[in-house]
Amino acid sequence: MVNVYILGMKSAEIHILTDEIINKIAAGEVIERPASAVKELIENSIDAGATRIQVQIEQGGKKKILVADNGKGMGKEDLNLCYLRHTTSKLQSADDLFHLQTNGFRGEAVASIAAISKMTISTATEDGDGGRLILKGGNIEDEQTYTSGHGTTFLIEDLFFNTPVRRTFLGSETSEGTRILDVVLKTAIAHPEIRFDYKVGDKAVFIGVPGELRSRLAEAIGSGVAKNLLPVDYTEAGVHVSGYISPTTETNGKRHHQFLFMRKRPIESKVIAKAISQAYEPYGAQCKPVTVLFLDMPDQEFDVNVHPAKREVRFANQNLVFLVVNHAIRDTFQKDLEAKSPFIDLSASMVQADTGDAPVPQYQAAPAYSAPIYKTPEVPRTNEVSDRQKTNSYSVADDVQDLFSQPEAGKIISLEPGQGNVPEPKPESAPWTPPTLFQIANTYIAGEDAEGLLIIDQHAAHSRILYERALATLENGSDLDSQELLFPELIEFSKMEKQVFSSVEMQLKKLGFFVEHFGGDTFQIRSIPSALPLSRAIKAVHQFLDSCAETGDADPKHITDTIAKAWSKTNAYQAGDKLKPEEMAQLMGQLMSTEEPLKSPYGAPTLMRITLDELAKKFKH
Ligand code: ADP
Ligand code: MG
Repeated sequence: MVNVYILGMKSAEIHILTDEIINKIAAGEVIERPASAVKELIENSIDAGATRIQVQIEQGGKKKILVADNGKGMGKEDLNLCYLRHTTSKLQSADDLFHLQTNGFRGEAVASIAAISKMTISTATEDGDGGRLILKGGNIEDEQTYTSGHGTTFLIEDLFFNTPVRRTFLGSETSEGTRILDVVLKTAIAHPEIRFDYKVGDKAVFIGVPGELRSRLAEAIGSGVAKNLLPVDYTEAGVHVSGYISPTTETNGKRHHQFLFMRKRPIESKVIAKAISQAYEPYGAQCKPVTVLFLDMPDQEFDVNVHPAKREVRFANQNLVFLVVNHAIRDTFQKDLEAKSPFIDLSASMVQADTGDAPVPQYQAAPAYSAPIYKTPEVPRTNEVSDRQKTNSYSVADDVQDLFSQPEAGKIISLEPGQGNVPEPKPESAPWTPPTLFQIANTYIAGEDAEGLLIIDQHAAHSRILYERALATLENGSDLDSQELLFPELIEFSKMEKQVFSSVEMQLKKLGFFVEHFGGDTFQIRSIPSALPLSRAIKAVHQFLDSCAETGDADPKHITDTIAKAWSKTNAYQAGDKLKPEEMAQLMGQLMSTEEPLKSPYGAPTLMRITLDELAKKFKH
């Protein structure tokens, strides 16, 4: 027999908890420290439509927290409800939980804070309805009349006064104060349109004047840092990312300022943090960028009510969020580079001409020594290839490059004038010598351009060129040229490879790999892409099939993309390949003619720039 005794019976072991205890326990979950109380109170002020919020603390918020707003205020009736548990004016049904619009509607915050402090609420609506309540541990001590303009002031004294254990777990005045400042700054950044005043004791610590996000950032993290930040505005797969981030050249801040928001609510997210660090990784492991990112996505894609303090956000599709944030940052870098590079400006105006819009090319005048724009004829990559020039079925890049023959562009350089269909430079165009390029560790190509030093990752860059070439071929028909092998190479396929092979055989052939069944698991390679050295043929076919196998996806568009990626990876210059000067020049020229010159097909950066400014800084000019 199970004995369940109810409160009041002497021998009872199980008790029904009083409301007071329930509130205290709940309070501990929602209000971990003074900063959590400040966060909740400010959020309520924002929900109440405040345009001005004042926060004042004493002793790290342990002795006093005051949050005053000019929001819509509460009438007497609401005032008498707001401090009770599960009271909210913002949520009518469980369904509303999935349509988050406000800063939280658990109806727990005020009750929780009230339960563990001495709280004075002074509030009034526009109509003058309102009052003042003085509570201690959630119980009314006193009720007063209150008349003032509309708005609400919460005064919290002696937080955790009745939960001594919690109190002892709090940090020092300084550390709790720092957390409060963090909350104030984050909220202020999320709401640059609201006036914020933050005081510690009598000392004004932060003042936020209503304005643009960038000026709010200047107030919050310093105008020197804020003025160089790049604006982010990117949408992919229904996820919108906006805000500001450090340019790749300004990542040596003292602190890694990372401000993340989901619909203006500050959040923490390991996934996003990782997406950010990965995007900055190529620019140095010690990168300390400033990143201020606002995310938005359909309601069903995220949940912020996972944690009682609503700090963490859970995404329905973590991988997607990772990718989109990562892309958003890289896209911003790319736009920045485009804005700075005279070459890429040219391609932007070409796109404009293509659309049939009134072509108003805005060629950016480049200094005489600048702009790595040059057109070179195709040159064989290796000595094993003798007749590559005669059939070059790739026309997209050529079309693009031909546009440079417009006199305005004026910088068409042929390394071998007269070859192919390269137009002769117009007599009026300034003489131009290609920059001297050299290889570092047979892996990177370095050269000077208008901005300073340009460093290209030869594998990433070549992959980009070949990837777009392969895509064009697979999508528009004509085959890429290949070299027939005098002696076919025999190759063994695994079961998996056999299966992949049978599904991509046609595309393989278009890209220059002709492979035939020989018997059993053995196949023979009859021809390979012209540019591929024979020594790499077998490995290349294996690699190609492996890469294709990785995406077990049947969407034809994805298959094409996978094949193009695999082909580019296999055929591209590898790290360690020694390149001739003309190969380097050709690579640069072709890279600049691609649609996305700054990214490899796998999303890695293809080039890096060290500007003259940065060089000067490094040398402490
Ligand atoms: P929630 O914000 O989830 O609704 P809270 O416990 O934080 O729950 O607040 C309870 C209610 O008190 C709110 O729904 C709102 O009606 C009222 N309230 C709290 N703070 C303010 C404020 N600064 N101005 C106006 N109303 C407020
Ligand atoms: Mg609230």
